[in-house]
Amino acid sequence: MDMETIQEKANKLRKEIELIVNIHNITCVQSVEIEYCYELIAAAFGFNCSHEMFISRAHKEELLSLESYLDKWKAIAYDSSVHDFIEKRIMELNGTNLDVLDSDWIISAVQWCLTPLCKGCQAPDYMGCFIGGNINWGITPEYVCSSCSRSADYDYCRRCTEDLIYPASEINSTGECLSHSDK
Ligand SMILES: [Zn+2]
Ligand SMILES: [Zn+2]
Repeated sequence: MDMETIQEKANKLRKEIELIVNIHNITCVQSVEIEYCYELIAAAFGFNCSHEMFISRAHKEELLSLESYLDKWKAIAYDSSVHDFIEKRIMELNGTNLDVLDSDWIISAVQWCLTPLCKGCQAPDYMGCFIGGNINWGITPEYVCSSCSRSADYDYCRRCTEDLIYPASEINSTGECLSHSDK
């Protein structure tokens, strides 16, 4: 999987918002501050501000690493309240010149930027799934897009959540994952 840190995600988000500004020809917006992007990412992860996001870990570098970001994203990926939380932060940041942008555009950009890249095709698909076994065994979680998840390489466990898929080789003949097969 291509590795992206929080820093890279923030840069990606900045480019995405700049693209929105250009597409909609919003001439009053001259620049997108990287701090603004960190604030939006912090909001998506449930922090009250980006400062809180960075001091919540002993080492800033750790938070900026892929593992920390994916752990955080895993916790919020399927949480519908994230949308409201990002929207609230956009309102709080209304002193910026970006408050002329539609909040739904920004929320979509944040969700798109935070979605991990697919292990197979590198697509950032918000509707994708985590590969279950990797989460359970504490290895860096891997993520696949919805299209790749439907390939013969992967399968669901009938007793796990539908948000998780497994390598097809780990699903037994009665449709259970390794941790469910002997219970
Ligand atoms: Zn894919
Ligand atoms: Zn299972």
